[in-house]
Amino acid sequence: MKVSVVGAGIGGMITALLLETNGHDVTIYEKEQKLGGRLTFETNGKYKIDQGPTIVLLPDVLLSILGDAGIPKEKLHLIPCDPLYDMYFYSGIKLTKWRDIDKQAEEIEKNFPGYGERFLQYTEDMKQVYTFGFDAFLSKSFHKLKEFLSYENIRFITKSRSYLDLDKYVKKYFDHTLLKEMYSLQSLYIGGSPYSVPALYGLIGYAEHAFGIWYLKGGYASLIDIIEEVCIDRGITIHQSTKVTNMLIENKQVVGVELENGDQVNYDVVIFNGEYPYLNKMLPKSSRKKEKKYKPSSGCLLAYVGVKKRFYHTTTHQFFMPDDFSKHMEDVFVKKKLTENPSCYVFNPITIDHEAAPENESVLYLLIPVPANDDIAWDEVKEQIVLKQLERIEKQAFPGLMDAIDWLSIRSPKDAKESGLYGGGSFGIAPHLSQSGGFRPQLIHPSIQGLYAVGASVHPGGGIPIVMQGAKLLAEYINQKGS
Ligand SMILES: Cc1cc2nc3c(=O)[nH]c(=O)nc-3n(C[C@H](O)[C@H](O)[C@H](O)COP(=O)(O)OP(=O)(O)OC[C@H]3O[C@@H](n4cnc5c(N)ncnc54)[C@H](O)[C@@H]3O)c2cc1C
Repeated sequence: MKVSVVGAGIGGMITALLLETNGHDVTIYEKEQKLGGRLTFETNGKYKIDQGPTIVLLPDVLLSILGDAGIPKEKLHLIPCDPLYDMYFYSGIKLTKWRDIDKQAEEIEKNFPGYGERFLQYTEDMKQVYTFGFDAFLSKSFHKLKEFLSYENIRFITKSRSYLDLDKYVKKYFDHTLLKEMYSLQSLYIGGSPYSVPALYGLIGYAEHAFGIWYLKGGYASLIDIIEEVCIDRGITIHQSTKVTNMLIENKQVVGVELENGDQVNYDVVIFNGEYPYLNKMLPKSSRKKEKKYKPSSGCLLAYVGVKKRFYHTTTHQFFMPDDFSKHMEDVFVKKKLTENPSCYVFNPITIDHEAAPENESVLYLLIPVPANDDIAWDEVKEQIVLKQLERIEKQAFPGLMDAIDWLSIRSPKDAKESGLYGGGSFGIAPHLSQSGGFRPQLIHPSIQGLYAVGASVHPGGGIPIVMQGAKLLAEYINQKGS
């Protein structure tokens, strides 16, 4: 079959490879000159660092799907991060997260007497949630809502209380604020508030201990170079700087795509890897559904910093927590305003990869969760917010940072929106209950034959391994169905 993939994000590229493996004739169209979408580098020529994803989770899922796509695990050099990360609280307390569950229990018991046992109970319960949740929710497509709302699923959700929001769920184990934050902040990895994502997403915090956090030598975005090389070897045609503007539909069946220059090209199957809310407008008016208002995930203020100094003593990943986490979350997700003292994630790759920056220098990445809000004058406020966080991290963990800065580049939700991310949110549509599982847009278009979607804004959701899991589900469906 002739298949067109619209978008060369990780979801599009992996689907393309999985379909080509099954003998389909695949062409990818990418509107940008570069491939990879969010999985790319930021560079000024001298310094280079991941622009988006930095934390490699679920390595077995990643390697297994890459293997199915014809990329052997030997092509990737994954290095474990242990400790997983340090957390610096506003009060000055620093806590370390370790991969090993027993070691983590000891660390918790040492700092919060009486809570070590509770942590062990939490991981035991989360193991069940992960095991059931991965099979029941991440390994199935829910184009029929009743399959999502099956008796078995509802029974599990009710029994495990994973219908609660993550904050309430974690509170059952940790009534101590700092511990609660340690095991609920992970919902921010996918742009959701712990106060509104379902507790099922707590499986991310569990997965950090169970499967580890890893670093891909050369940076996460180097995965795209590996995938591109295999795509080219396998004869997949890739058109870069080529935007698809419209889907061609006849009798509720996709028949091809129209490009920005007006060319029309016929295909049996079209897979959209852009942000799902934009797909409707690419259909002829007669095929459009009533426009639905999706909620975007949180946005990010991102700073990439070249530094004429090395900081070996820190962990690769670290979180600087705000003075008031619940207020910060309320500002980002409910009030959609800036927080005076927000949280800040810092990535320092030279601690694990000495070649990540020029000799004796470093390159850092700061991520500050902010609202996806167009009304904020990002160009006016972004530098001031970033400088304040740089000063904070200098005090708590990076002495001498400010004087050694040689390069600073900042991306705001305005840049994200201009690059095509829905509402300026970084992680696709928000992973709230009403936009999760069977309620999220699905891989299979509800009314047009041969039209599919893959990527962070469709089921099973955002994050590299999860988007790849979506690509796997989609390719299996198309291969089985035949179109
Ligand atoms: C700041 C940030 C930090 C992150 N951190 C992590 C992390 O640590 N770990 C992790 O696992 N995940 C992380 N993520 C999430 C991860 O990056 C995404 O879930 C994933 O990359 C999304 O892939 P995708 O397949 O949806 O494609 P995208 O990356 O969205 O790419 C889609 C592609 O389609 C193209 N396109 C769109 N419309 C058209 C069109 N009409 N015609 C042609 N081309 C089109 C776009 O140009 C783009 O290249 C992070 C994301 C961000 C932004």
